[in-house]
Amino acid sequence: MSNNEEDLRISFEFFPPKTEVGREKLATVREQLAIFEPEFYSVTYGAGGTTRDTTKNIVLESIQQGQATAPHLSFGGDDEATIKQLLSDYKEAGVNRIVALRGDMPSGMGGASQLVYANELVSFIRENFGQHFHLEVAAYPEIHPESKGYKSDIEYLKGKFDAGANSAITQYFYNPDAYFYFIDQCQAAGIEQDIVPGIMPIINYQNLARFSANCGAEIPRWMARRLEDFGDDSESIKAFGIDLVTDLCEMLLDNGAPGLHFYTMNQTQPTAQILTNLLAAEPE
Ligand code: FAD
Repeated sequence: MSNNEEDLRISFEFFPPKTEVGREKLATVREQLAIFEPEFYSVTYGAGGTTRDTTKNIVLESIQQGQATAPHLSFGGDDEATIKQLLSDYKEAGVNRIVALRGDMPSGMGGASQLVYANELVSFIRENFGQHFHLEVAAYPEIHPESKGYKSDIEYLKGKFDAGANSAITQYFYNPDAYFYFIDQCQAAGIEQDIVPGIMPIINYQNLARFSANCGAEIPRWMARRLEDFGDDSESIKAFGIDLVTDLCEMLLDNGAPGLHFYTMNQTQPTAQILTNLLAAEPE
């Protein structure tokens, strides 16, 4: 690994739990993952503002415990005054990083809501809050499912940086070449900011396959076949996934990835095991 332990920039993503039990469990997960000294935690935001309060509560709780924590945010169906108030509350609470997104239409809402492109949210935050927030945006090495084409997706990513974003986090992927090619194309398009790979540990194959089909992330055929072989043997799936994702992370870091952002799914394992493997592979 080219990044040494001190340089290894990692972040952990969580979703806001729906129940008190889930919330308590997440507090433990945050505590357990803190030993890896992440640069920040991030907390997702339900499409259309459905988790406006729960996201905020988790972010504030985590900040109060001394951990830099970035809320994800999208306009959803909210007006500018609502989003501005939420951002003011975050600023006051000590938040200094936001993951700025367009989000997706909540299922069942039909055409009742609006989708505001992420570059517009970035511009809105810069207009109203200057440089206070470090702004992360989303990037798609395998290209966003609604994208008109490869080049236009990169142009829109550039638009987010031109609007004032500082860095990007990618959708997860299992094919490192997709990431390396994407970085080359971004650089050729004049993007110089960091694009940190998003890493999805493998916990449950059925859920992963369903989610991947929706978000446009590819599970390579060989990998899908291997995972199918394991059937209900969840321990074997996890063990295979840990090895596979550790190798992926190692390859990404060895070839210049600026850090790793883990989609933890609110679980300590297997993220902790992957990081432990990576750090153990570190030359003295
Ligand atoms: P945009 O960058 O706005 O792009 C959306 C689509 O429109 C793309 O196809 C793009 O090519 C095109 N486009 C972009 N700008 C323009 C423009 N100006 N004019 C025309 N076309 C344009 N979803 C959630 O609901 N909650 C979350 O918390 C959440 N967190 C995420 C975190 C990460 C790191 C990632 C990678 C994704 C996350 N998502 C989340 C999913 C994300 O909201 C969806 O992928 C959504 O469909 C696109 O959001 P975006 O910010 O990438 O959109």
